[in-house]
Amino acid sequence: MRVPLNDLSRGIVNINLPLQACIARVVKKGWFLMGAELKSFEAAFAEYLGVEDFVGLANGTDALEIALRCANVGGSDKVIVAPNAGMYGSISVLNCGAEPVFADVDPVTLCISPACVESLMTKGEYKAVIVTHLYGQMADVENICKIAHKNGMVVIEDCAQSHGARRQGGMAGTIGDITTFSFYPTKNLGALGDGGGLTSRNPATIGKARALRQYGWKARKYHVDMPNGQNSRLDEIQAACLVVKLPDLDQKNAKRRSIWLRYQQALNGRLPLIGRYDESFVAHLCVIRSNERDGLQSRLNKLGIDTDIHYPVLDYHQAVFGSRFSDIFLPAAEAACQEILTLPCFPEMTEAEVEYVAEALISPL
Ligand SMILES: *Cc1c(COP(=O)(O)O)cnc(C)c1O
Repeated sequence: MRVPLNDLSRGIVNINLPLQACIARVVKKGWFLMGAELKSFEAAFAEYLGVEDFVGLANGTDALEIALRCANVGGSDKVIVAPNAGMYGSISVLNCGAEPVFADVDPVTLCISPACVESLMTKGEYKAVIVTHLYGQMADVENICKIAHKNGMVVIEDCAQSHGARRQGGMAGTIGDITTFSFYPTKNLGALGDGGGLTSRNPATIGKARALRQYGWKARKYHVDMPNGQNSRLDEIQAACLVVKLPDLDQKNAKRRSIWLRYQQALNGRLPLIGRYDESFVAHLCVIRSNERDGLQSRLNKLGIDTDIHYPVLDYHQAVFGSRFSDIFLPAAEAACQEILTLPCFPEMTEAEVEYVAEALISPL
């Protein structure tokens, strides 16, 4: 058997007709940007999150950059980020001309650790912190908010991997000061191309994000009222497709969680699987840890099971930085980077595929 890491075509097949219909509707209208479909999706996703408003943007990386600009992050400012979240946060900080400062992660969840954020407080001043809800888990954003607000920092929640995750304190995307999403096709809520967006409880932030996504226009088109504007619009076809897909999100998250649970039960503690079986975890990725990761990966590969590593290079080791961060060593992130392996986990996996992977995880070498 061959088990792919993901297969987007299977997810599309089930809703092919409504997707075709909404695409045809947009094409027939002949209105492709900043129209009724965007408004509908912004309203629907705001309602889903239980927030006042949502701003559709072109992708999740732009969303992070625009969130930082809404927090007035600019040259010489420092922003705290996790070192193991795929570089997206760091890229957006760099794009603002600011400097990323890395805080280590919790050794179990691999999400940015409040204690590590707090320990940076004696070493400098920071404008903001980006809290990434990694692999579909919710990071401890509540405690990071407490530390951040005491120290005058803005909390940006990156929910690109956690659409629909929730716990007692609220839903992912409703706790931080500004929260961002990606609707890249493989995300738990994915478009048929790029997409993203942000929200905030602060109406001024919403207004600023709406201006920044369209050149810095505020009141009137062709009148640039604000610096650092860009072109970052969520187009009508993507917005319409997201409206079609949103009602299935919770059910698909439950399916992902059940695949994670099957792996967890098969492993029975032999190796750790990151995540937990409750609504705070939407199993965006099923990540196993092994100190013989490379051997496990090649064994699964021989059995026809695709795997990947999220992510293979810590941000501060990225070549783009040269030796700029050569004195940094964050032990929990370093250890995890050598041990993590992502297993197939997507809502349309067949029972047989899930079973095959579960068995493979515990089959002798
Ligand atoms: C995917 C992702 C992003 C970037 O989203 P794009 O839409 O691809 O720009 C940002 N942060 C995290 C944690 C992601 O997983």
